[in-house]
Amino acid sequence: MPGCFVYGCKTGYHGSSGHFFRVPQANGKRTPDPGLKLAWTSKLKKVRSDVIFDPDNKNHRICSKHFIESDIIKEDTVTINGQVTSSPRSRWKLTETAVPRIFDSVPTHLIKKSPKKRRNPEDRHLESVSKKKKDL
Ligand SMILES: [Zn+2]
Repeated sequence: MPGCFVYGCKTGYHGSSGHFFRVPQANGKRTPDPGLKLAWTSKLKKVRSDVIFDPDNKNHRICSKHFIESDIIKEDTVTINGQVTSSPRSRWKLTETAVPRIFDSVPTHLIKKSPKKRRNPEDRHLESVSKKKKDL
């Protein structure tokens, strides 16, 4: 399984585990809000120059380190007979408006300037495939 999409982040590598997220779905819909997708893509463009974040790519996941506490739902609250009870979720989820915003692991020179890197052919192939999808 691939790890966190954020450059320099080690979550998910070397057997470490963590909570991973993709763009949350809009309320009552099966797909995320297009505006939110754009917000994620533009945020992640600043921290990673070699691969463009693709909200539809299952492998492009962001770990919980990059979200502020209030963006992550860690427990469910249920009201039983007027009593509010909360139980921890085994899988955390994001609020509908959550956007990754903490990028401690990224070297600052990468945020300011995006160095051109040689990509391996497989990545190039994947990118052209996802570009074609967008054009449709
Ligand atoms: Zn991460």
